[in-house]
Amino acid sequence: MEKITKDAFCVIGKAGSTKDGEGFVQKLWNEANSHFVEVAQLAAKNADGSLKGIWGAMTDFSFEFKPWENNFSEGMYLAGVEAEISAVAPKGWKKWIIPGFEYLKIPVQAPDTFEKTIKYLKENNIPLAGAVQDFTEPKTGENFMFFPVACNDSKRKLIQDLKSTTNQFSVCGLHCEYCFLSEWCAGCKSACNMCSYATLSDDNTCPNVACCKEKGFDGCYQCGKIRGCQTGFYSPDSDGANASKALAILRRDYGDKAVTAALAKMHEKYDFLKLQEVLNADIDKAVEQLKTFAETGAQQAFIIKGNAE
Ligand code: SF4
Ligand code: SF4
Ligand code: SF4
Repeated sequence: MEKITKDAFCVIGKAGSTKDGEGFVQKLWNEANSHFVEVAQLAAKNADGSLKGIWGAMTDFSFEFKPWENNFSEGMYLAGVEAEISAVAPKGWKKWIIPGFEYLKIPVQAPDTFEKTIKYLKENNIPLAGAVQDFTEPKTGENFMFFPVACNDSKRKLIQDLKSTTNQFSVCGLHCEYCFLSEWCAGCKSACNMCSYATLSDDNTCPNVACCKEKGFDGCYQCGKIRGCQTGFYSPDSDGANASKALAILRRDYGDKAVTAALAKMHEKYDFLKLQEVLNADIDKAVEQLKTFAETGAQQAFIIKGNAE
């Protein structure tokens, strides 16, 4: 039994879950292996040119990399290869950032390796700090299980480093500073966009981000069709469409400082997680509300440019 520390790392692979039924893990491996050529150039390499690792990465359904639920019987799985953090998953593949942990690295020598190790951890009062990860050493083909026994802060640090180089005004109008995913998502246009509108789409790109890129816009705030748009986060079933459109319109008409001031004031007044709850009923009313918040909340004077719409 070896104790190792591994900082946060990226795996690109084929994703599925226990909800997909019996044999889903093997199916994911078949799919990943038969299309490996699509990700081969993204794989992280050792100094000698060999692949760093082949991973059967696991997480609970909350995507917090906690152990599989219901006595380790339910969770999500990614069959793939360790890749560089900056890698972008091709269409049909998913990219996960596994948090940093101290692990017990156990060779898989028998079918009951998992159960035996869990028993050992219990008997020695060692709590499992996260989901167990399957690892194959590419050079030798040896299989190991990585049992996380202590967290480290490397994933948070990695995301915060990436954030410092990206714009925290999202493409659709939301502001990353006030987002519940802020700790783990580096922003819409970053290599670690963890917004579900990106991670759940087949090509890993949020439709609003893709549309703005195609049109050459920095964000939807620059688009004349924003009010009637139903793309991505603006779709009728999104609970934040009007709120994010109002923020984008405020940004367009009054600038970044107004948005920042309005959000700061709103969050001072309301103890809430989702600004949708306050702003989503009507775009015009929301813009008016935001303007009031901006005017009362601005620490520095900002110039209202006038409502151009
Ligand atoms: S989910 Fe969107 S708003 Fe939240 S941190 Fe990520 S990019 Fe920013
Ligand atoms: S919905 Fe799209 S544009 Fe909006 S925060 Fe998420 S990734 Fe960014
Ligand atoms: S059409 Fe919609 S998604 Fe595309 S840039 Fe305009 S507002 Fe954004």
